[in-house]
Amino acid sequence: MNMLAHDSQNPVNLLGKSLDELRSFMQSLGEPAYRGGQIYHALYAERRFDLAAMTNLPAPLRERLGRESAIQLPAVRRRYESSDGAIRYVLALNAAEKSAAVPIGKPATVEAVFMPEQNRQTICISTQAGCAVDCHFCLTATLGLIRNLTAAEIVGQVLVVLADQHAALKPQTNVVLMGQGEPLLNYEAAMTAVRILLDPNGMAITPKHATLSTSGIVPGIERLAKERVRPKLAISLNASSNEQRDAIMPINRKYPIEMLLDVCAGYPLRPWEHLTFEYVLLGGFNDAPEDARRVAKLVANLRAKINLIPWNPGDLPYEEPNTERIEAFRQILTEKNIPAFVRYSRGQDVMAACGQLAVLESKRDTSGLAQISPV
Ligand code: SAH
Ligand code: SF4
Repeated sequence: MNMLAHDSQNPVNLLGKSLDELRSFMQSLGEPAYRGGQIYHALYAERRFDLAAMTNLPAPLRERLGRESAIQLPAVRRRYESSDGAIRYVLALNAAEKSAAVPIGKPATVEAVFMPEQNRQTICISTQAGCAVDCHFCLTATLGLIRNLTAAEIVGQVLVVLADQHAALKPQTNVVLMGQGEPLLNYEAAMTAVRILLDPNGMAITPKHATLSTSGIVPGIERLAKERVRPKLAISLNASSNEQRDAIMPINRKYPIEMLLDVCAGYPLRPWEHLTFEYVLLGGFNDAPEDARRVAKLVANLRAKINLIPWNPGDLPYEEPNTERIEAFRQILTEKNIPAFVRYSRGQDVMAACGQLAVLESKRDTSGLAQISPV
């Protein structure tokens, strides 16, 4: 059966479809293909989600689409505002359309984070509900993998947050695939969403302003390297030796550091681009000066920079690093000519910071958090 075929129980979600898919869908309805282009433009360039208001489509077509299709955005369940201005969105996802990427379409909850800055905003989105990778320092891991998100659910997070914040938007939007989940283990859906985000005729985000972060799924990085349209790449290194990485990231047994650095060495960077390595600093575990020296050696031959992320506390047996160790670590890298930056995560007080996006509303008492408006 054509994946876009009409089924009244399960209307086709127009969101998350590529331009080609929307064009074929229109043709399958006996309409000219360019109608698909008009819908694509309305959804992503104009960010309009009401079929009835798409007045460049003939009225009978709008009526038919109203019956046979839908524009299903994630629903905002709650918003929490951090004292630093970041806003954590808890989003409810319906049972997903069944597809190859999502064999079991059960309802799920995910999070997106809006981070306003002076001249831009950054939106952090999830690619899976939960995560199977099992990094020991990350709260998302405690959920296990609930399910893959669809392309509609991934791009829909950006659309919902932009719509909700429309009055406060700055000219530039950055998108980071750094919320719940491992994007390269939901490759098709994540990349379909990324293509829409980066399409100049779609959401028109420039590739410099979009970053995909991976725990180091080597076959996924190899595949990404061959993409014509791709975001910047960030890799969660998080350790200075295999022994250390094995202890906190079991994925390292499958894709150890040398394999990871090998694929990085062959990665086709664009002239303006560098690789980013994320390094979560776990107090007393991987934040010693020797670690910094080992990290400098590992990345010495790559065009790379390092983002040092002080660990955000959760209900896990790790420690936050102290400020002197963080600064000493950064300085060692800088002295060895490795650009290094300390990135304090935003939104800690509302559990919106890196690795904290696992607070399941049903499981945890969130009453102490600053909810700005029940939705
Ligand atoms: N799964 C992908 C992207 C989501 S995690 C990945 O692992 O890269 C985004 C970043 O948050 C990763 O660099 C991860 O190492 C980091 N992270 C996870 N838990 C954290 C925590 N408690 N404190 C700080 N950073 C954390
Ligand atoms: Fe998954 Fe990334 Fe958390 Fe590891 S750090 S468990 S890959 S979300």
